[in-house]
Amino acid sequence: MPESFANLNLRDEILDAISEAGYTKPTPVQEQAIPAILKGIDLQVSAQTGTGKTAAFLLPILEKISTDKVMDVRQPKALVLTPTRELAIQIAENFETYSEKLDLKATAVFGGSSMGTQIKKLTKGVDVVIATPGRILDHLGQGNVNFDNLRFLVLDEADRMLDMGFKKDIRLIQKNLPTRKQSMLFSATFPPDVLDLAASTLVNPSRIQISRSNAAADNVTQVVHPVAAARKLELLTEIIDRGDLNQVLVFTKTKQMANDVVDHLKGNKISAVALHGNKTQSARKRALQDFKDIKVRILVATDVASRGLDIDTLMYVINFELPGVPEDYVHRIGRTGRAGASGKAITLVSADEQRHLKDIERFLGRQIPLEQFGDYSRGDSASLKKKKSVSVMGGRSRHSNEESRQYLDGDKRGAKQRQSSNSAKKKNQKKFKRR
Ligand code: AMP
Repeated sequence: MPESFANLNLRDEILDAISEAGYTKPTPVQEQAIPAILKGIDLQVSAQTGTGKTAAFLLPILEKISTDKVMDVRQPKALVLTPTRELAIQIAENFETYSEKLDLKATAVFGGSSMGTQIKKLTKGVDVVIATPGRILDHLGQGNVNFDNLRFLVLDEADRMLDMGFKKDIRLIQKNLPTRKQSMLFSATFPPDVLDLAASTLVNPSRIQISRSNAAADNVTQVVHPVAAARKLELLTEIIDRGDLNQVLVFTKTKQMANDVVDHLKGNKISAVALHGNKTQSARKRALQDFKDIKVRILVATDVASRGLDIDTLMYVINFELPGVPEDYVHRIGRTGRAGASGKAITLVSADEQRHLKDIERFLGRQIPLEQFGDYSRGDSASLKKKKSVSVMGGRSRHSNEESRQYLDGDKRGAKQRQSSNSAKKKNQKKFKRR
Protein backbone atom coordinates (compact mmCIF):
# COMPACT_ATOMS: atom_id res chain seq x y z
CA MET A 1 0.00 0.00 0.00
CA PRO A 2 1.38 3.43 -0.86
CA GLU A 3 1.99 5.32 2.37
CA SER A 4 2.27 8.67 0.74
CA PHE A 5 0.80 10.58 -2.16
CA ALA A 6 4.23 10.55 -3.81
CA ASN A 7 3.76 6.86 -4.70
CA LEU A 8 0.48 7.43 -6.48
CA ASN A 9 1.82 8.66 -9.82
CA LEU A 10 0.40 12.13 -9.58
CA ARG A 11 2.26 15.06 -11.13
CA ASP A 12 4.25 17.49 -8.97
CA GLU A 13 1.75 20.32 -9.45
CA ILE A 14 -0.96 18.16 -7.86
CA LEU A 15 1.34 16.86 -5.11
CA ASP A 16 2.33 20.43 -4.23
CA ALA A 17 -1.29 21.54 -4.09
CA ILE A 18 -2.39 18.72 -1.80
CA SER A 19 0.60 19.20 0.44
CA GLU A 20 -0.31 22.90 0.70
CA ALA A 21 -3.84 21.78 1.62
CA GLY A 22 -2.24 19.98 4.56
CA TYR A 23 -2.84 16.40 3.41
CA THR A 24 0.10 14.25 4.44
CA LYS A 25 -1.03 10.81 3.33
CA PRO A 26 -3.85 9.36 1.28
CA THR A 27 -6.98 8.09 3.01
CA PRO A 28 -7.94 4.43 2.36
CA VAL A 29 -10.41 5.31 -0.40
CA GLN A 30 -7.76 7.46 -2.08
CA GLU A 31 -5.14 4.70 -1.82
CA GLN A 32 -7.44 2.32 -3.65
CA ALA A 33 -9.35 4.54 -6.06
CA ILE A 34 -6.53 6.72 -7.41
CA PRO A 35 -4.43 3.91 -8.97
CA ALA A 36 -7.56 2.25 -10.41
CA ILE A 37 -8.83 5.46 -12.00
CA LEU A 38 -5.37 6.19 -13.41
CA LYS A 39 -5.44 2.74 -15.01
CA GLY A 40 -8.71 3.59 -16.74
CA ILE A 41 -10.90 1.18 -14.78
CA ASP A 42 -14.58 1.91 -14.02
CA LEU A 43 -15.24 2.03 -10.29
CA GLN A 44 -18.06 1.25 -7.90
CA VAL A 45 -17.12 2.71 -4.55
CA SER A 46 -18.88 2.20 -1.28
CA ALA A 47 -17.60 5.05 0.83
CA GLN A 48 -19.38 7.20 3.29
CA THR A 49 -19.06 10.89 3.57
CA GLY A 50 -15.92 12.20 5.27
CA THR A 51 -13.63 9.50 3.92
CA GLY A 52 -11.87 11.76 1.42
CA LYS A 53 -13.83 10.39 -1.55
CA THR A 54 -13.91 13.74 -3.39
CA ALA A 55 -10.12 13.83 -3.73
CA ALA A 56 -10.24 10.11 -4.56
CA PHE A 57 -11.94 10.90 -7.87
CA LEU A 58 -10.80 14.48 -8.49
CA LEU A 59 -7.04 13.93 -8.19
CA PRO A 60 -6.72 11.17 -10.82
CA ILE A 61 -9.15 12.98 -13.14
CA LEU A 62 -7.02 16.13 -12.84
CA GLU A 63 -3.92 14.06 -13.51
CA LYS A 64 -5.41 12.54 -16.64
CA ILE A 65 -7.04 15.59 -18.15
CA SER A 66 -4.00 17.76 -17.63
CA THR A 67 -2.18 15.55 -20.11
CA ASP A 68 -4.87 16.30 -22.69
CA LYS A 69 -3.54 17.99 -25.74
CA VAL A 70 -6.96 19.09 -27.02
CA MET A 71 -6.82 22.24 -24.95
CA ASP A 72 -7.31 24.70 -27.82
CA VAL A 73 -11.09 24.32 -27.48
CA ARG A 74 -11.95 24.06 -23.83
CA GLN A 75 -14.74 21.55 -23.60
CA PRO A 76 -15.85 19.49 -20.61
CA LYS A 77 -13.79 16.36 -20.17
CA ALA A 78 -15.33 15.37 -16.86
CA LEU A 79 -18.86 15.61 -15.51
CA VAL A 80 -19.53 15.13 -11.80
CA LEU A 81 -23.20 14.67 -10.90
CA THR A 82 -24.03 15.33 -7.30
CA PRO A 83 -27.30 15.69 -5.39
CA THR A 84 -27.23 19.22 -3.96
CA ARG A 85 -25.89 22.65 -4.66
CA GLU A 86 -23.91 22.63 -1.39
CA LEU A 87 -22.11 19.52 -2.46
CA ALA A 88 -21.55 20.91 -5.96
CA ILE A 89 -20.01 24.07 -4.50
CA GLN A 90 -17.85 22.04 -2.17
CA ILE A 91 -16.54 19.80 -4.93
CA ALA A 92 -15.80 22.91 -7.01
CA GLU A 93 -13.89 24.37 -4.05
CA ASN A 94 -11.88 21.16 -3.75
CA PHE A 95 -11.19 21.34 -7.47
CA GLU A 96 -9.82 24.88 -7.04
CA THR A 97 -7.54 23.68 -4.24
CA TYR A 98 -6.18 20.67 -6.09
CA SER A 99 -5.83 22.35 -9.49
CA GLU A 100 -4.28 25.55 -8.22
CA LYS A 101 -1.07 24.92 -10.15
CA LEU A 102 -2.73 23.54 -13.30
CA ASP A 103 -4.29 25.34 -16.21
CA LEU A 104 -7.73 23.79 -15.76
CA LYS A 105 -11.16 25.28 -15.22
CA ALA A 106 -14.26 23.92 -13.54
CA THR A 107 -17.70 25.29 -12.94
CA ALA A 108 -20.49 24.24 -10.61
CA VAL A 109 -24.02 24.39 -11.99
CA PHE A 110 -27.06 23.93 -9.78
CA GLY A 111 -30.63 25.06 -9.41
CA GLY A 112 -31.75 28.15 -7.59
CA SER A 113 -29.14 30.43 -9.08
CA SER A 114 -28.86 32.38 -12.33
CA MET A 115 -28.92 30.36 -15.55
CA GLY A 116 -27.33 33.34 -17.32
CA THR A 117 -24.13 33.32 -15.27
CA GLN A 118 -23.83 29.57 -15.68
CA ILE A 119 -24.39 29.82 -19.45
CA LYS A 120 -21.59 32.40 -19.67
CA LYS A 121 -19.18 30.13 -17.81
CA LEU A 122 -20.16 27.06 -19.81
CA THR A 123 -19.85 28.79 -23.16
CA LYS A 124 -16.53 30.39 -22.24
CA GLY A 125 -15.22 26.87 -21.83
CA VAL A 126 -14.52 24.58 -18.87
CA ASP A 127 -12.71 21.29 -18.38
CA VAL A 128 -14.85 19.95 -15.54
CA VAL A 129 -18.55 20.44 -14.90
CA ILE A 130 -19.89 19.74 -11.42
CA ALA A 131 -23.65 19.70 -11.51
CA THR A 132 -26.92 18.78 -9.93
CA PRO A 133 -28.92 16.61 -12.37
CA GLY A 134 -31.94 18.89 -12.90
CA ARG A 135 -29.92 21.94 -13.82
CA ILE A 136 -27.41 20.28 -16.14
CA LEU A 137 -30.32 18.65 -17.94
CA ASP A 138 -31.80 22.09 -18.55
CA HIS A 139 -28.46 23.28 -19.94
CA LEU A 140 -28.23 20.21 -22.15
CA GLY A 141 -31.77 20.75 -23.42
CA GLN A 142 -30.97 24.34 -24.31
CA GLY A 143 -27.72 23.38 -25.99
CA ASN A 144 -25.61 25.40 -23.57
CA VAL A 145 -23.08 22.64 -23.10
CA ASN A 146 -21.40 20.13 -25.35
CA PHE A 147 -20.22 16.85 -23.89
CA ASP A 148 -18.78 15.41 -27.12
CA ASN A 149 -15.27 15.33 -25.59
CA LEU A 150 -16.34 13.94 -22.23
CA ARG A 151 -13.98 11.28 -20.88
CA PHE A 152 -15.09 10.91 -17.26
CA LEU A 153 -18.45 10.62 -15.56
CA VAL A 154 -18.70 10.62 -11.77
CA LEU A 155 -21.97 9.82 -10.01
CA ASP A 156 -21.35 11.14 -6.52
CA GLU A 157 -23.59 10.21 -3.58
CA ALA A 158 -25.66 8.08 -5.96
CA ASP A 159 -27.96 6.80 -3.22
CA ARG A 160 -28.93 10.33 -2.35
CA MET A 161 -29.49 11.36 -5.95
CA LEU A 162 -31.92 8.48 -6.42
CA ASP A 163 -33.52 9.18 -3.08
CA MET A 164 -34.17 12.73 -4.25
CA GLY A 165 -35.96 11.51 -7.37
CA PHE A 166 -33.18 12.19 -9.91
CA LYS A 167 -33.28 8.72 -11.50
CA LYS A 168 -34.96 9.83 -14.75
CA ASP A 169 -32.79 12.92 -15.04
CA ILE A 170 -29.62 10.85 -14.64
CA ARG A 171 -30.75 8.39 -17.32
CA LEU A 172 -31.55 11.24 -19.70
CA ILE A 173 -28.21 12.91 -19.06
CA GLN A 174 -26.41 9.62 -19.72
CA LYS A 175 -28.19 9.26 -23.06
CA ASN A 176 -26.60 12.55 -24.08
CA LEU A 177 -23.04 11.59 -23.18
CA PRO A 178 -20.52 9.73 -25.34
CA THR A 179 -20.60 5.96 -24.82
CA ARG A 180 -16.83 5.66 -24.57
CA LYS A 181 -15.85 7.13 -21.24
CA GLN A 182 -14.65 6.08 -17.80
CA SER A 183 -17.36 6.07 -15.15
CA MET A 184 -17.28 6.02 -11.38
CA LEU A 185 -20.12 5.65 -8.95
CA PHE A 186 -19.75 6.63 -5.30
CA SER A 187 -22.42 5.83 -2.76
CA ALA A 188 -22.65 5.43 1.00
CA THR A 189 -25.28 2.72 0.65
CA PHE A 190 -26.16 0.23 -2.08
CA PRO A 191 -29.89 -0.47 -2.10
CA PRO A 192 -31.22 -2.25 -5.24
CA ASP A 193 -31.87 0.92 -7.26
CA VAL A 194 -28.25 2.07 -6.77
CA LEU A 195 -27.03 -1.36 -7.83
CA ASP A 196 -29.22 -1.06 -10.95
CA LEU A 197 -27.75 2.33 -11.75
CA ALA A 198 -24.24 0.97 -11.22
CA ALA A 199 -24.95 -2.01 -13.48
CA SER A 200 -26.22 0.18 -16.30
CA THR A 201 -23.46 2.79 -15.97
CA LEU A 202 -20.25 0.90 -15.24
CA VAL A 203 -18.34 -1.46 -17.54
CA ASN A 204 -16.38 -4.24 -15.79
CA PRO A 205 -15.99 -2.14 -12.69
CA SER A 206 -13.62 -2.69 -9.80
CA ARG A 207 -15.44 -2.57 -6.50
CA ILE A 208 -14.02 -0.72 -3.54
CA GLN A 209 -15.60 -1.09 -0.14
CA ILE A 210 -14.28 1.34 2.40
CA SER A 211 -16.57 0.47 5.26
CA ARG A 212 -19.77 -1.45 5.75
CA SER A 213 -22.32 0.33 3.61
CA ASN A 214 -24.47 1.11 6.61
CA ALA A 215 -21.64 1.80 9.01
CA ALA A 216 -21.48 5.10 10.79
CA ALA A 217 -18.01 6.61 11.19
CA ASP A 218 -16.20 4.73 13.95
CA ASN A 219 -14.68 7.87 15.35
CA VAL A 220 -18.08 9.41 16.08
CA THR A 221 -19.45 8.73 19.57
CA GLN A 222 -23.20 8.30 19.37
CA VAL A 223 -25.68 8.78 22.20
CA VAL A 224 -29.44 8.97 22.56
CA HIS A 225 -31.30 11.29 24.95
CA PRO A 226 -34.87 10.21 25.70
CA VAL A 227 -37.01 13.35 25.96
CA ALA A 228 -40.65 14.40 26.00
CA ALA A 229 -41.44 15.94 22.64
CA ALA A 230 -42.49 19.22 24.25
CA ARG A 231 -39.21 19.47 26.18
CA LYS A 232 -36.80 19.04 23.31
CA LEU A 233 -36.03 22.76 23.01
CA GLU A 234 -35.31 22.94 26.73
CA LEU A 235 -33.02 19.90 26.59
CA LEU A 236 -31.23 21.21 23.51
CA THR A 237 -30.45 24.44 25.34
CA GLU A 238 -29.20 22.51 28.36
CA ILE A 239 -26.92 20.30 26.26
CA ILE A 240 -25.41 23.36 24.56
CA ASP A 241 -25.04 25.31 27.81
CA ARG A 242 -23.72 22.44 29.91
CA GLY A 243 -21.02 21.51 27.44
CA ASP A 244 -20.41 25.16 26.52
CA LEU A 245 -20.60 23.92 22.95
CA ASN A 246 -19.46 26.42 20.36
CA GLN A 247 -20.02 24.82 17.00
CA VAL A 248 -22.99 22.52 16.77
CA LEU A 249 -24.91 21.36 13.73
CA VAL A 250 -28.53 20.67 14.67
CA PHE A 251 -30.81 18.71 12.35
CA THR A 252 -34.56 19.05 12.04
CA LYS A 253 -36.95 17.36 9.64
CA THR A 254 -38.72 20.46 8.45
CA LYS A 255 -37.85 24.02 7.52
CA GLN A 256 -40.48 25.31 9.93
CA MET A 257 -38.94 23.39 12.82
CA ALA A 258 -35.47 24.66 11.86
CA ASN A 259 -36.79 28.22 12.13
CA ASP A 260 -38.53 27.45 15.45
CA VAL A 261 -35.32 26.02 16.92
CA VAL A 262 -33.33 29.07 15.80
CA ASP A 263 -35.91 31.41 17.38
CA HIS A 264 -35.79 29.49 20.64
CA LEU A 265 -32.00 29.47 20.82
CA LYS A 266 -31.76 33.17 20.02
CA GLY A 267 -34.34 33.78 22.77
CA ASN A 268 -31.89 32.04 25.10
CA LYS A 269 -29.00 34.18 23.92
CA ILE A 270 -27.39 31.39 21.93
CA SER A 271 -26.46 32.59 18.45
CA ALA A 272 -28.03 30.40 15.77
CA VAL A 273 -28.88 30.45 12.10
CA ALA A 274 -31.04 28.23 9.88
CA LEU A 275 -29.99 26.55 6.64
CA HIS A 276 -32.78 25.22 4.46
CA GLY A 277 -34.29 25.31 0.99
CA ASN A 278 -36.39 28.43 1.62
CA LYS A 279 -33.29 30.55 2.11
CA THR A 280 -31.71 32.37 -0.79
CA GLN A 281 -28.42 31.11 -2.10
CA SER A 282 -26.56 34.07 -0.64
CA ALA A 283 -28.25 33.67 2.76
CA ARG A 284 -27.21 30.03 2.81
CA LYS A 285 -23.65 30.83 1.86
CA ARG A 286 -23.44 33.49 4.55
CA ALA A 287 -24.98 31.20 7.18
CA LEU A 288 -22.46 28.51 6.39
CA GLN A 289 -19.51 30.88 6.41
CA ASP A 290 -20.54 32.46 9.73
CA PHE A 291 -20.87 29.00 11.21
CA LYS A 292 -17.48 27.88 9.87
CA ASP A 293 -15.92 31.05 11.29
CA ILE A 294 -17.71 30.37 14.61
CA LYS A 295 -19.46 33.76 14.37
CA VAL A 296 -22.65 31.81 15.12
CA ARG A 297 -22.56 28.85 17.47
CA ILE A 298 -25.41 26.79 16.14
CA LEU A 299 -26.39 25.93 12.58
CA VAL A 300 -29.87 24.40 12.32
CA ALA A 301 -30.33 22.53 9.06
CA THR A 302 -32.68 20.24 7.20
CA ASP A 303 -31.32 17.10 5.53
CA VAL A 304 -31.34 18.37 1.97
CA ALA A 305 -29.73 21.69 2.79
CA SER A 306 -26.98 20.08 4.79
CA ARG A 307 -25.99 17.53 2.21
CA GLY A 308 -22.26 17.63 1.71
CA LEU A 309 -21.58 20.20 4.40
CA ASP A 310 -17.90 19.97 5.12
CA ILE A 311 -16.73 21.68 8.27
CA ASP A 312 -13.31 20.37 9.21
CA THR A 313 -13.50 21.16 12.89
CA LEU A 314 -17.09 20.18 13.59
CA MET A 315 -17.27 18.19 16.83
CA TYR A 316 -21.02 18.01 17.51
CA VAL A 317 -24.08 16.99 15.60
CA ILE A 318 -27.43 17.02 17.38
CA ASN A 319 -30.44 15.30 15.86
CA PHE A 320 -33.27 17.41 17.20
CA GLU A 321 -35.65 15.16 15.30
CA LEU A 322 -34.87 11.77 13.83
CA PRO A 323 -34.73 11.56 10.04
CA GLY A 324 -37.40 9.58 8.19
CA VAL A 325 -34.90 7.09 6.73
CA PRO A 326 -31.92 5.47 8.48
CA GLU A 327 -29.45 6.36 5.70
CA ASP A 328 -29.95 10.00 6.56
CA TYR A 329 -28.90 9.35 10.13
CA VAL A 330 -25.56 8.08 8.84
CA HIS A 331 -25.19 11.05 6.52
CA ARG A 332 -26.06 13.48 9.30
CA ILE A 333 -23.59 12.16 11.81
CA GLY A 334 -20.96 11.93 9.09
CA ARG A 335 -20.80 15.74 9.19
CA THR A 336 -18.63 15.32 12.28
CA GLY A 337 -15.59 13.12 12.70
CA ARG A 338 -14.31 14.20 9.26
CA ALA A 339 -11.02 12.79 7.98
CA GLY A 340 -10.22 10.90 11.16
CA ALA A 341 -11.06 13.59 13.74
CA SER A 342 -13.33 12.59 16.61
CA GLY A 343 -16.89 13.76 16.96
CA LYS A 344 -20.07 13.27 18.93
CA ALA A 345 -23.60 12.73 17.66
CA ILE A 346 -26.42 13.36 20.12
CA THR A 347 -29.92 12.27 19.21
CA LEU A 348 -33.03 13.51 20.99
CA VAL A 349 -35.73 10.87 20.88
CA SER A 350 -39.33 11.29 21.98
CA ALA A 351 -41.81 8.44 22.46
CA ASP A 352 -43.28 8.84 19.00
CA GLU A 353 -39.83 8.47 17.44
CA GLN A 354 -38.91 5.19 19.14
CA ARG A 355 -39.90 3.27 16.03
CA HIS A 356 -37.55 5.33 13.87
CA LEU A 357 -34.78 4.82 16.42
CA LYS A 358 -35.29 1.05 16.21
CA ASP A 359 -35.05 1.21 12.40
CA ILE A 360 -31.82 3.18 12.64
CA GLU A 361 -30.31 0.76 15.16
CA ARG A 362 -31.25 -2.17 12.95
CA PHE A 363 -29.61 -0.40 10.00
CA LEU A 364 -26.46 0.27 12.03
CA GLY A 365 -26.46 -3.23 13.45
CA ARG A 366 -26.00 -1.94 16.98
CA GLN A 367 -27.73 -0.13 19.79
CA ILE A 368 -26.95 3.50 20.46
CA PRO A 369 -26.19 4.03 24.18
CA LEU A 370 -28.34 6.28 26.34
CA GLU A 371 -27.10 9.50 27.90
CA GLN A 372 -29.43 11.36 30.21
CA PHE A 373 -29.60 14.64 32.10
CA GLY A 374 -32.44 14.70 34.64
CA ASP A 375 -35.77 13.35 33.60
CA TYR A 376 -36.55 15.11 30.38
CA SER A 377 -38.67 12.25 29.14
CA ARG A 378 -41.35 12.73 31.78
CA GLY A 379 -44.76 13.74 30.40
CA ASP A 380 -44.11 12.51 26.92
CA SER A 381 -47.56 11.08 26.29
CA ALA A 382 -49.16 14.43 27.12
CA SER A 383 -46.73 16.22 24.86
CA LEU A 384 -47.10 13.79 22.02
CA LYS A 385 -50.25 15.36 20.65
CA LYS A 386 -48.64 18.75 20.71
CA LYS A 387 -45.58 17.51 18.88
CA LYS A 388 -47.66 15.86 16.22
CA SER A 389 -49.37 19.12 15.50
CA VAL A 390 -46.14 21.09 15.04
CA SER A 391 -43.59 18.82 13.55
CA VAL A 392 -44.07 16.12 11.02
CA MET A 393 -45.05 17.14 7.51
CA GLY A 394 -44.51 13.68 6.10
CA GLY A 395 -41.35 11.60 5.91
CA ARG A 396 -37.93 12.88 5.03
CA SER A 397 -38.10 11.71 1.49
CA ARG A 398 -41.24 13.71 0.83
CA HIS A 399 -39.56 16.68 2.38
CA SER A 400 -36.43 16.16 0.32
CA ASN A 401 -38.45 15.92 -2.83
CA GLU A 402 -40.29 19.02 -1.87
CA GLU A 403 -37.05 20.92 -1.51
CA SER A 404 -35.40 19.41 -4.54
CA ARG A 405 -38.45 20.03 -6.66
CA GLN A 406 -38.29 23.62 -5.60
CA TYR A 407 -34.75 23.88 -6.95
CA LEU A 408 -35.77 22.15 -10.15
CA ASP A 409 -38.76 24.42 -10.65
CA GLY A 410 -36.39 27.33 -10.19
CA ASP A 411 -34.14 25.76 -12.81
CA LYS A 412 -36.94 25.37 -15.24
CA ARG A 413 -38.27 28.88 -14.82
CA GLY A 414 -34.80 30.25 -15.42
CA ALA A 415 -34.40 27.96 -18.38
CA LYS A 416 -37.54 29.22 -20.08
CA GLN A 417 -36.67 32.83 -19.55
CA ARG A 418 -33.30 32.60 -21.16
CA GLN A 419 -33.74 30.54 -24.31
CA SER A 420 -30.78 31.43 -26.44
CA SER A 421 -30.81 31.51 -30.22
CA ASN A 422 -27.11 31.18 -30.89
CA SER A 423 -26.32 28.64 -33.58
CA ALA A 424 -23.90 26.38 -31.67
CA LYS A 425 -26.58 26.05 -29.06
CA LYS A 426 -29.16 25.16 -31.66
CA LYS A 427 -26.89 22.47 -33.01
CA ASN A 428 -26.38 21.04 -29.54
CA GLN A 429 -30.06 21.34 -28.87
CA LYS A 430 -30.94 19.39 -32.01
CA LYS A 431 -28.69 16.57 -30.85
CA PHE A 432 -30.31 16.42 -27.43
CA LYS A 433 -32.07 13.12 -26.88
CA ARG A 434 -35.28 13.62 -24.99
CA ARG A 435 -36.14 10.02 -24.22
P1 AMP B 1 -14.87 14.06 1.59
O1 AMP B 1 -15.14 12.67 2.08
O2 AMP B 1 -14.40 14.09 0.19
O3 AMP B 1 -16.08 14.94 1.82
O4 AMP B 1 -13.65 14.68 2.45
C1 AMP B 1 -13.73 14.90 3.82
C2 AMP B 1 -12.69 15.86 4.32
O5 AMP B 1 -11.40 15.26 4.34
C3 AMP B 1 -12.52 17.13 3.52
O6 AMP B 1 -12.44 18.20 4.44
C4 AMP B 1 -11.21 16.99 2.80
O7 AMP B 1 -10.57 18.24 2.60
C5 AMP B 1 -10.42 16.14 3.78
N1 AMP B 1 -9.41 15.26 3.17
C6 AMP B 1 -9.51 14.60 2.00
N2 AMP B 1 -8.41 13.86 1.78
C7 AMP B 1 -7.58 14.07 2.82
C8 AMP B 1 -6.28 13.58 3.17
N3 AMP B 1 -5.62 12.72 2.41
N4 AMP B 1 -5.73 14.01 4.33
C9 AMP B 1 -6.40 14.89 5.11
N5 AMP B 1 -7.64 15.37 4.85
C10 AMP B 1 -8.22 14.97 3.72
